[in-house]
Amino acid sequence: SKRTVVITGASSGLGLNAANSLIKNGWHVVCAVRDFAKMEMKATQMNFPKDSFSVYHCDLASQKSVRAFAEALQVDGVNVDVLICNAALYLPSGRARWHPQFTADGFELSMASNHLGHFKLVHELFPLLKASAEAGRKPRCIILGSVTGNTNTVAGQVPPKANLGDLSGLAEGAPLADKSLFDGAKAYKDSKLCNMLTMRELENRYNDSGIIFSSLYPGCIAETGLFRNHTNVFRFLFPLLQKNLTKGYVSEEEAGERLATIAESEDTAESGQYWAWRGGGDDLVENYNTKDRGTPIKNQPSTDVQDDAKAKKLFE
Ligand code: NDP
Repeated sequence: SKRTVVITGASSGLGLNAANSLIKNGWHVVCAVRDFAKMEMKATQMNFPKDSFSVYHCDLASQKSVRAFAEALQVDGVNVDVLICNAALYLPSGRARWHPQFTADGFELSMASNHLGHFKLVHELFPLLKASAEAGRKPRCIILGSVTGNTNTVAGQVPPKANLGDLSGLAEGAPLADKSLFDGAKAYKDSKLCNMLTMRELENRYNDSGIIFSSLYPGCIAETGLFRNHTNVFRFLFPLLQKNLTKGYVSEEEAGERLATIAESEDTAESGQYWAWRGGGDDLVENYNTKDRGTPIKNQPSTDVQDDAKAKKLFE
C-alpha cells in the first residue's frame, strides 16, 4: 500500500511544498491543518490529485485538538509511516512581539504551537509509528529545527538569543522558558531549540523503536508565511539580503524537495541527525559558494542543542 506521511501546517510554505514533492513521489499526504478551506484551496492551486491527500483538523495550540486529531486517524484506520512536525508561528514584530498571548491550556502561544503541540502529537502518534516499524516500513519522525535556535550560527547570534534557562518558566506557565521579559522573537527561537532537543531526546529514549528521528535546517525560505507578522520593509528586504549577501536563500519549492529527501531518502536514514545543506546554511560560511546544494549533510548543532541533561528535563 501507499506510504503515508502526516505533515502539520501543510497549508503553507515548506509544508505545502514538501506535500507536493511527496505526492509526486507516490505518497499519501495527511494534511494536519487549522484551516480546512485554505488547505483545499492550496491543494487545488497545486493540482494535488484528489486521492493523494486527506485533510484533518489539528490546531497545535490546543492539546485537546491534537488529541482529537490523533483519535480521528485511529478511528479512520490511517497508517502513519512518517510524521513531519512542521507547523510554526513566529511573532517578531508589532504588539505581539512584546505582549504574550496565551492558549486555553495556559501556555504562551508560540511555544504552545511550535513545541508543546508537536510534543503531544509525537506521543499520540507513537503507537502508529511503532506499528509501521513492526510492519517493516522504516518509519520516520521529523521535527523542523532552525539555525536561529542554534547559537553556534550567525543567525543564532542575533539577539535575542535562544535561551531556555533552567526551564522553570515553562514549568510555571511564565511567558518565556527562562522567565525573562517577553519577546516574541525569542519565544520562537526557544521553541525551535525545544524542537531540536526533543528530537535528540526521542533518539536517546527510543533508539531501539525502529523509528528514525531527525531534524533539519531547510535553508532560509525567505518568502514563506513565517514572516507574515513582520513589517513590510522587512518582508521586502529579507529575501534580497538572503539571496545576495548571506546566500542562505532557498525557494519554497527547493526547500520542499529538501524536506521530502529527509522523509524518504536512504541517504538520510540515520537516526538522531540534524541535517542541513551546503551553499546555503548561514552556519556553513565556508561553503557559501558551493554549487552542490542538493545533498544533505550532517550538521553540528550548538552546545545548547547537544545538552542531553536539558533535553531530558524538557521532556520530563
Ligand atoms: P509558514 O508560515 O509558511 O507555514 C507555517 C504553517 O504552520 C502554516 O501552514 C500555518 O497554518 C501552520 N500553523 C501555525 N500555527 C498553527 C497551529 N496553531 N495549528 C496548526 N497549524 C499551525 O512557515 P514556513 O513554511 O516557513 O515554516 C515551516 C517550518 O519551517 C517551521 O517549523 C519553521 O520554523 C521552519 N523553518 C523555516 C525557515 C524559513 O526560512 N522560512 C527557516 C528555518 C526553519 P496556516 O496555513 O493556517 O497559516
